[in-house]
Amino acid sequence: MKAILFDMDGVLYEGERPVPGAARTLGWCREHAIPFRFLTNTTSRPREALVEKLAGMDIRAAVDEIVTPPVAASDWLRRHADRPVVAFVPERTRAEFADLPFAPPHADRAGAVVVGDLGQGWDFDTLNRAFRLLFEHPGTPLVALGLTRYWQAEDGPRLDAGPFVRALEYALGIEAVVMGKPGRSFFDAALKTLGVEPSEAVMIGDDIRSDVDAAMQAGLRAIQVRTGKFRESDLDLGIRPTAVIDSIADLPTWWERHPPDRGAPSNRPRHP
Ligand SMILES: [Mg+2]
Repeated sequence: MKAILFDMDGVLYEGERPVPGAARTLGWCREHAIPFRFLTNTTSRPREALVEKLAGMDIRAAVDEIVTPPVAASDWLRRHADRPVVAFVPERTRAEFADLPFAPPHADRAGAVVVGDLGQGWDFDTLNRAFRLLFEHPGTPLVALGLTRYWQAEDGPRLDAGPFVRALEYALGIEAVVMGKPGRSFFDAALKTLGVEPSEAVMIGDDIRSDVDAAMQAGLRAIQVRTGKFRESDLDLGIRPTAVIDSIADLPTWWERHPPDRGAPSNRPRHP
């Protein structure tokens, strides 16, 4: 095992509150030159804002260390969209798409319809506008910035992008291209930037489906933390994380018990 992928929300912080020990664990990674990336479905803030948020929690991070759905999606859209795209994402997320051409919000045709975590920006007319763009021009790709079902805000759980993507898929009988967790291509994109294979990496997350199960399906190991959206009942879903730790603060201890030169940790018996 050589590299680590960190989910952010629920692992490093809960809302605006840092998870105790997060800064220390990230410092430990840098000290030991363990390569890592932050892998987040967050589309409500640009990466610069995430870097700033982490800095406020004493966690040093560079923009390039954060892999987000818009970053992975831009690449795909550049290759597949034959005209400007219409994106249902918060205004600040647009900057993450770099020089990708966007159609005006009320355009009647799109090279692709991109759906992110628009949050309170959703209402019936907005969702229906996305529906009509896809309905009027069959074959227009629907690109999802993640399929996360909900996230834990300070006032309680809130719907993420997933339910809105599913609503469009259901209405149209189509399948979205998923650029974000739990999409396998998203994990692959992050690992490519680190130059490691899935079997050489471990994902740390609070979402047992989108982080843990999805990473394991993509061939990584995955550690569940008991922070963020985690509930003990998540462990009854039939998903078996590589390990469950109380929080990111316990990662160095876990890692040191499983040094890379002794092979990666697994559920396999030691003496077959
Ligand atoms: Mg999370």
